[in-house]
Amino acid sequence: MNLLKQSYQPENLEQLMCKSLLSVDWQGYVYDCDFNQMLDMPLTANSTHLSQLLKKMPEAMAISVADHCYGCTAGQGSSCTGVLTN
Ligand code: SF4
Repeated sequence: MNLLKQSYQPENLEQLMCKSLLSVDWQGYVYDCDFNQMLDMPLTANSTHLSQLLKKMPEAMAISVADHCYGCTAGQGSSCTGVLTN
């Protein structure tokens, strides 16, 4: 974890997949990403169901973050499509 924290690169923040994509579980509950889904970290303080978002999508939502997010922001960054920066 220390190596990931020491390798943090703020320029990766712009390209993070959680800024433009969501993850939806089999029951329709929504998460910022598949990592957060596996860690049971809901989109907001209260679990959000896809049916709620389809009725009214907020203009902006806070992203639930924790130490595992260093995995996306260290070095060249990481996402489902590969590195974030060259
Ligand atoms: S792990 Fe954190 S930084 Fe990476 S996509 Fe998910 S919320 Fe965003």
